[in-house]
Amino acid sequence: PATLGLDQDAPLEALMQAGASHLWLHASPIQTLVTQADRRILVEGRGCRVTDAQGHTYLDALSGQWLVNVGHGRAEIAEAMARQAKALAYGNASRAATLPAIQLAAVLAHLTPGDLSTVFFSSGGSEAVESALKIARQYHALRGEPERYKVIARRGSYHGATYGAMSASGSRSGVDSYFGPLLSGTLSVSAPYCYRCDYRKTYPECDVYCVDAIEDLLRYESPNTVAAVIAEPVSAACGIVVPPAEYLPRLREICDRHGVLLILDEVITGFGRTGKMFASEHWDVVPDIMTLAKGLSSGYAPIAATVCRQPIADIFGGANGKAIGHLLTFGGQPVACAAALANLDILQRENLVRNAEQQGAYLLSRLHDLASRHPSVGDVRGLGLLCALELVTDRRTQQPFPVDGPEIHYLLEKLAELGVLTRAEGNLYLAPPLCIERHEIDELTGIVDTALSHFEEAHSYL
Ligand code: PMP
Repeated sequence: PATLGLDQDAPLEALMQAGASHLWLHASPIQTLVTQADRRILVEGRGCRVTDAQGHTYLDALSGQWLVNVGHGRAEIAEAMARQAKALAYGNASRAATLPAIQLAAVLAHLTPGDLSTVFFSSGGSEAVESALKIARQYHALRGEPERYKVIARRGSYHGATYGAMSASGSRSGVDSYFGPLLSGTLSVSAPYCYRCDYRKTYPECDVYCVDAIEDLLRYESPNTVAAVIAEPVSAACGIVVPPAEYLPRLREICDRHGVLLILDEVITGFGRTGKMFASEHWDVVPDIMTLAKGLSSGYAPIAATVCRQPIADIFGGANGKAIGHLLTFGGQPVACAAALANLDILQRENLVRNAEQQGAYLLSRLHDLASRHPSVGDVRGLGLLCALELVTDRRTQQPFPVDGPEIHYLLEKLAELGVLTRAEGNLYLAPPLCIERHEIDELTGIVDTALSHFEEAHSYL
């Protein structure tokens, strides 16, 4: 039998054991399916809810991994994928286009702001970032500035797992010790993380010094050695860090002043997550390159995109156009493109971006209410349906919890017991599907309220 009898009606222990023996869950020790209580097998999803192999149903408060924007169980995406797979399952990433790839590229050029116009497809966020970094370097080389190779990122950010993306991610601890040396020329600056400002300054008196620090670094490094600055408009990895209003417009000006490309990584924030189609639209900033993944297909297919502005397309294009030295076999895979097209159709038809804006504002107000009653909540941050509660042992000292410590595990297990799946590492993240309704937010925040009370009791806040 094709599945070795490991079907949904097989005994749960057999499924868990087979998974533990053969399936390597990412960023996990092998066998965590049986050694850690918070690992489960998910078998079904509808809207904002998922069901595990034991029949327990949960509110999916992280949209899988920040990506099931249109919600689970959308039959029309599945049908669009089946239609395309029957018509043509694969074209050729470099020598032949397919209809869905052309359609999706045109739709993305239309949806993205400004003159973002040319789309390079790949399979996931890391590849989209990797492609952006290579495009940036080759762009400068083709323009006669091959010495522009450095990339500036923000500390605490996450841009992916491949070498370039990992090197451009602003988290060094634990990475260097296994995988170093990283790509040379990747530099980092502090994030606009006002709750724990590295410069010990306070907004607005600081006049957003953290963005001026990027220009200081550029000048120090010599601007004509820098290819790009990469940033998430709202950084999920930093703990849902929403920048002050001046930050991104000023960053755009700094990049322009020094001929440096601005790459905005909208892998999480794209496609309505923050209450606008793209988060950069909150500040009217158009990046030179935008990276997209996750919500592009809401997870129904692995697909990502690196969208470039016209001046970049001009360098690589035209009669004397230069080939990009970068090919990914699955880039523009037509079944994945068909999934993305059907997904974007739902997103627009059901006004889910507007829903994210409205329900996001409601969720944030509920979270502020929780914070006023829970001493373990040091800070509340969010934009649209991308929110976090920062957990502290003591509000006065802002002492954080150990990222992977027993306290955080306890909280996550308590939430799961009460019917909510999410993620926490110092911050408790809340980013449900964009189709969430008000009564589901009440249910979600009610459960978070109860779980926090248990958490505080267990860790003697009270
Ligand atoms: N960029 C950002 C902002 C991300 O959050 C992530 C993953 N969460 C990535 C890139 C990498 O995406 P992937 O895991 O699909 O490779």
